[in-house]
Amino acid sequence: MPVEHGKKHTFVWQKPGSGRNGDAPSAAVFCGEILPELIMALGYMPKRLFPSVSCPDLSPATLPPFSCTTAKSYVSMLLQGKMDDVELFAFSDTCDTMIALHSIFQSRGKKTIRLASPRSISIAASRHYLLAEIQRIAAIPEMRFSEEVFRRAASLYARQRQLLKALTEFRDRMPQEVFFEIGRYTWTVHPEEACAVLEDLVKELSTSPRRQGFRVLLLGSCVLGPGLFQLLDRLKLVVAGDNMCDSQRIHPGWPAAHLSDIAALTYERKPCPCKHGGGAAACLDRLLASCSPDGVIIHTQKFCDPHSWDLTRVKQQLARLGVSYLHLETSGEVSEQHRLRLESFCELLEARRQHSGGR
Ligand code: SF4
Ligand code: SF4
Repeated sequence: MPVEHGKKHTFVWQKPGSGRNGDAPSAAVFCGEILPELIMALGYMPKRLFPSVSCPDLSPATLPPFSCTTAKSYVSMLLQGKMDDVELFAFSDTCDTMIALHSIFQSRGKKTIRLASPRSISIAASRHYLLAEIQRIAAIPEMRFSEEVFRRAASLYARQRQLLKALTEFRDRMPQEVFFEIGRYTWTVHPEEACAVLEDLVKELSTSPRRQGFRVLLLGSCVLGPGLFQLLDRLKLVVAGDNMCDSQRIHPGWPAAHLSDIAALTYERKPCPCKHGGGAAACLDRLLASCSPDGVIIHTQKFCDPHSWDLTRVKQQLARLGVSYLHLETSGEVSEQHRLRLESFCELLEARRQHSGGR
């Protein structure tokens, strides 16, 4: 489905879940903690599954009402048969909700694997545990693990990550809605296809001017659609950096040559509340220094415990550093109330700018 985004950028957007995947059956991946090169080496085409608000909520019969929208969305998609073409569902033990989701998918007769990853990857000893888990999954006989496919996939995904890093450096030159869509697109298509698109975009953006507006750093959990990014574009808030669950938390690294490299790459991910002792706050100083934002927007989903716990820590740190921030809690999408709060935030940033003499 081609989508026109402003005058300069035209991007061919494919619905997540579609796209070329050769002959390999699809495997849905729920969190970036499971690296796609592992899934590809098991004989599947990995596609990150994103929550969506586009299907009715069918979850009440299966989930308690105080579940996050991400979980409700996955269960609704499952019950609606929207994932019937997916052959394998790859879970990792990210949060209690995800562990419960694994059971639900299993009880519905879906083929699953569950990476029982360490609850915290902040301690050195957990690396051995994670590697043992990855090796266990690679050794499951029906998974057809291939060293050769693994090395090829690792090299392709390493290239993709480098290009995404380059694109991220230019993200303040494009509409945020487009960046959001590109992010989702690259998680769901074959890396060769993603690399070709990314190469063109990086080339085009390298000569484009930066967009004018207040620069913001985005933190938090998945959003369920482009609404937040469309709103940021309308209010001329330019995202200068992020650390969100649906962006690429993985750092561009070297191509993995061995399974142990996958464990090492996992440990290089940007800190997230589920897996790092210090939560997202652990890399806040570094993130702020890398993108010099005027303010920070923190997005959390209702009933998401990991991000709610992290929130206090992040707010305290921002207050200590004197950085303006806005916390938005959503059920996945933004509302009129969120728009009003974002407008007030813009006014606050403007007042601060004037107070500091326009700097
Ligand atoms: S907080 Fe971390 S582990 Fe949990 S869904 Fe987000 S990236 Fe995955
Ligand atoms: S990290 Fe939060 S939003 Fe994501 S599945 Fe767990 S509880 Fe839900």
